[in-house]
Amino acid sequence: MMTDKAGIYIHVPFCLSKCHYCDFCSRTRADDETKKLYVTRLCEEIRVFGSELEGRPVADTVYFGGGTPTLLSSEQLSRILDTVNEVFGIDQGAEITAETNPKSADLLKLRDMRSIGINRLSIGMQSVHDNELKALGRIHRFSDFADTYLDARQAGFNNVSVDLMYGIPEQNIESFRRSVETLAVAHPEHISSYCLTVEDGTHFGNRRDSLVLPDEDAVSEMYIMMTEMLRAYGYEKYEISNFAHNGQVSRHNLKYWKREDYLGFGPAAHSFFGGVRFANSRDVEGYLNGKDIKEHSEKITDRDAADEYVMLGMRLREGIDIGEFNRIFDVDFMERYGNTFERFAPEYISIDDRRCAFTDKGMFVSNYILSET
Ligand code: SF4
Repeated sequence: MMTDKAGIYIHVPFCLSKCHYCDFCSRTRADDETKKLYVTRLCEEIRVFGSELEGRPVADTVYFGGGTPTLLSSEQLSRILDTVNEVFGIDQGAEITAETNPKSADLLKLRDMRSIGINRLSIGMQSVHDNELKALGRIHRFSDFADTYLDARQAGFNNVSVDLMYGIPEQNIESFRRSVETLAVAHPEHISSYCLTVEDGTHFGNRRDSLVLPDEDAVSEMYIMMTEMLRAYGYEKYEISNFAHNGQVSRHNLKYWKREDYLGFGPAAHSFFGGVRFANSRDVEGYLNGKDIKEHSEKITDRDAADEYVMLGMRLREGIDIGEFNRIFDVDFMERYGNTFERFAPEYISIDDRRCAFTDKGMFVSNYILSET
């Protein structure tokens, strides 16, 4: 849905080391010169894109993702924000998030980040157990996360999200229960959970056959247990994998699920604007050398737009407002999707003439059900 507002995504493809499961666009070799050049290229890309864009939107969310954005200095993050502000304007009250990892930002840095306007921090914790963190190839220990979390609070971040993983090596239901509980007691405003997927080309992908992971039943039990525990601690599961306390949802990520406009900058960044999807390639080297890395652009047809709306909207707890769907697409939701979804009701899908949404149980098998539509 096009509005005069948009989310801005900034990709920072640098990390201190590569985690065993990671297939994100990130590299571990980045000296100060490289980072400086990268920021210059980012600012150029934002300016050039902005100058060519008709109907420039105002940014109401900005998201620094990666990689590890806090490997850039606060001055560099500030320079990027200034460029976004100059080109698009940043809404007063915008949500400005930076991802970080334990060991990559100290109290001073976090204070500086807060002072340049970053008001939401997303920390990659993953587990409270050092043996699990080690098995994932993470370089931090739980105590490093605890330091970063406390520093973030001290620096004035009152909107903090924490990442948590399940289905990982060395994990069992009891150890995951302790991770969930420890995190819930710390009480971040937001928790993003991730089920490990083993991707080709990663360290785990290369030793897929020897990898010992919790089995499917255990993983399903972990997901259900996490949902119930977090609910008891006052979190609402507003999306399949995301939990918020007091309605502090990720406004930026909601744009992805609600098909609202967003623009991405940097290698591997994706955009959706005015009904067109486009993306940059993962070519960090090319980007640094000033190469145009725009990869593809696709105008979404009405049929695809309706399918996307359902696929993305069903990820949300609220699901699909059937009347709204019918109005937007001038298509009868029940005629097009009713048969499929009704097959899974009431155990996995709750559906009436107003709304269609996954039940808690259905959320865990959502990929399978959506693949049937
Ligand atoms: S910190 Fe995140 S982006 Fe960097 S290698 Fe690990 S999983 Fe990938």
